[in-house]
Amino acid sequence: MIKKPDILKNRAYINGMWVSAESGKVFSVVNPANGQKLADVPDMGKEDTEKAIEAAFLAFPVWRSKTAKDRSKILKIWHSLVLDHCDDLAALLTAEQGKPLTEAKAEILYGASFIEWYAEEAKRIYGDIIPTHKEDARVLVTREPIGVVGAITPWNFPHAMITRKIAPALAAGCTVVLKPAEDTPLSALALAELAQQAGFPPGVINIVTGAADSAAEIGLVLTTHEKVRKISFTGSTEIGSLLMKQSAGTIKKISLELGGNAPFIVFESADLERAAEGAIICKFRNAGQTCVCANRIYAQDSIYEEFAVKLAQRIKALKVGAGDQEWVQIGPLINGQGLEKVKMHVQDALEKGGKLVCGGKNHDAGALFYTPTLIRDMNAEMLLNQEETFGPVAGLFRFGSEEDVIRAANDTPYGLASYFYSKDLGQVFRVAEALEYGMVAVNEPVLSGESIPFGGIKQSGIGREGSHYGIEEFTEMKYVLLGGL
Ligand code: ADP
Repeated sequence: MIKKPDILKNRAYINGMWVSAESGKVFSVVNPANGQKLADVPDMGKEDTEKAIEAAFLAFPVWRSKTAKDRSKILKIWHSLVLDHCDDLAALLTAEQGKPLTEAKAEILYGASFIEWYAEEAKRIYGDIIPTHKEDARVLVTREPIGVVGAITPWNFPHAMITRKIAPALAAGCTVVLKPAEDTPLSALALAELAQQAGFPPGVINIVTGAADSAAEIGLVLTTHEKVRKISFTGSTEIGSLLMKQSAGTIKKISLELGGNAPFIVFESADLERAAEGAIICKFRNAGQTCVCANRIYAQDSIYEEFAVKLAQRIKALKVGAGDQEWVQIGPLINGQGLEKVKMHVQDALEKGGKLVCGGKNHDAGALFYTPTLIRDMNAEMLLNQEETFGPVAGLFRFGSEEDVIRAANDTPYGLASYFYSKDLGQVFRVAEALEYGMVAVNEPVLSGESIPFGGIKQSGIGREGSHYGIEEFTEMKYVLLGGL
């Protein structure tokens, strides 16, 4: 299946070396489609994390003093190696994460796009010369790399969430200690192998792997260590909040990409075919396991029935199975916990008056598969309205006026992605401005890309990833006053 086995690694990567945990402990990575073990990888803890931080700290002066062009060159080689290994990286990603192969390939290309983008941006970190406020002085402002970055990533995009963080960090001149999610460390280790081949000096990239039970210990070291200057995290709001608290003691700069609860609103003027198509992509991508997946789908009174039919037809047609088969559109959920949450949301919605249109049960493709589901007549009391379901379940709400749906859409502590469909130009501007979200997509179901600022407001996070803004998160501003001239 994998043609170039150089990317298959089962040890962590610290200071340019492939290492076991100090304790010798390991944990298993399994394929969620069939429960089979893929590998044992090091279950690391405090000591290993401290070693990685020391390595990153020592590598920092070496890496930051390279010219931007030299850093850019290494990033570009890494980018082409990722592209050369695209099929293998995708197969590995599908094996440990479960998403269909076509989505896995798209993720590898998406992930690679951040490496390319920041290889280019590395050379464009400009400063300012500010008109002086003293006659015999001049004022310079420069941007410097912040230092050692601690990055913690989730399992739903095991490749792209890494490159989206570490490519800008490396481009800026920072060094990195990364802890990938326990469900999907193999994609991270594969990226490290290719980084090593690309020529990053030892210590510039370090990967500390750990089981679920070790995450808190590794996280505590990263967030409290004086030599780590920046924390970049993608995951749940609960853990993001904890990491922010832990980082307070040493006043670290932080970026957090946290949970969402995306509204997907279909107004009566919308192109309903396009909206139904979009809802499927937005809701069911990665089996509904993305933080920007539509969670609450709202359709206006006058088109509610017609839209519900269009949605149901498409949901019933989705093909469920192990992601390594070409025809599959919906893979397994990541683990038992994920499946339990989905089942709980469905049961709760049905108990509170939701009507099941299709699905609503496990799928016989395997233990972690769930049948794509549509529940209509949803209401605000339901769990699905209040938190992300993170699974292949669409809940359809009905609304009357524009004001009502904006109120409902904003009635959440989250503010990551939002979507709406309308052909009324005045409404497009009104609603785009009224939605309290970091990102608004109009008549489009997918808003990610390397050139856009991805991120949320409220309890969905702090900071932005991607675009020219993304690199600023890894720099500090320095003001130099040149006097006595
Ligand atoms: P999810 O519920 O989607 O798995 P989490 O926020 O629990 O989201 O996990 C995202 C990442 O955070 C994973 O790499 C996980 O191992 C890590 N993590 C979980 N708990 C902690 C913690 N207490 N400290 C640091 N990292 C953690």
